[in-house]
Amino acid sequence: MKVDFNKTNGLVPVIIQDERTLQVLMLGYMNEEAFNKTKKERVVTFFSRSKNRLWTKGEESGNFLAVKSMDIDCDQDTILIKAVPTNTVCHTGSFSCFGEKNVKGFLYELEEKIGQRIDDKIQDSYTYSLYEKGINKVAQKVGEEAVELVIEAKDDNDNLFKNEAADLLYHFLILLKAKNVTLTDIEEILLARNK
Ligand code: AMP
Ligand code: ZN
Ligand code: ZN
Ligand code: ZN
Repeated sequence: MKVDFNKTNGLVPVIIQDERTLQVLMLGYMNEEAFNKTKKERVVTFFSRSKNRLWTKGEESGNFLAVKSMDIDCDQDTILIKAVPTNTVCHTGSFSCFGEKNVKGFLYELEEKIGQRIDDKIQDSYTYSLYEKGINKVAQKVGEEAVELVIEAKDDNDNLFKNEAADLLYHFLILLKAKNVTLTDIEEILLARNK
């Protein structure tokens, strides 16, 4: 499919979404030149209406947007880009132009970080050191955290319960990684059961 730049006087709105969490990060505009440059270089370049020139997001701040996917909407006049930001996206210093980082969806970012620690064999990382001990140790740790959660469930200290739940989720993600399974694989099973 091709973007129809004629329909909108040469400029098409572009929604930038965080590839991992799907949070909307910002909105900009592209002309055909900006679109082609972005497609080729895999780094977002807009056409800035205020600067009246091509604007590579991050050209001054170093906070670039690495393109993961580009999609065109149903009637070819809006672009959706999934990207990984180098850093904060808004020039005000906030994470996105619509506010701070979303809590929802953070598990995917954590999943990716856990994967990186393991793939890059980061020696001083707790995640990697646990992973290195083997699948039995990781699974055992998940079991321990589950038991701790059960114990806290019987108590009425919300804070302790929440922290054990967080411990369990974190170790659960390490176990998934150790088994070469993704969080999305599990969601697909739950989704299929939901019919
Ligand atoms: P940057 O592209 O991040 O190097 O920023 C260069 C200039 O672009 C800044 O000084 C702002 O004027 C503008 N700018 C940067 N990020 C944004 C944004 N998310 N939305 C609107 N303007 C921005
Ligand atoms: Zn449209
Ligand atoms: Zn902004
Ligand atoms: Zn614990």
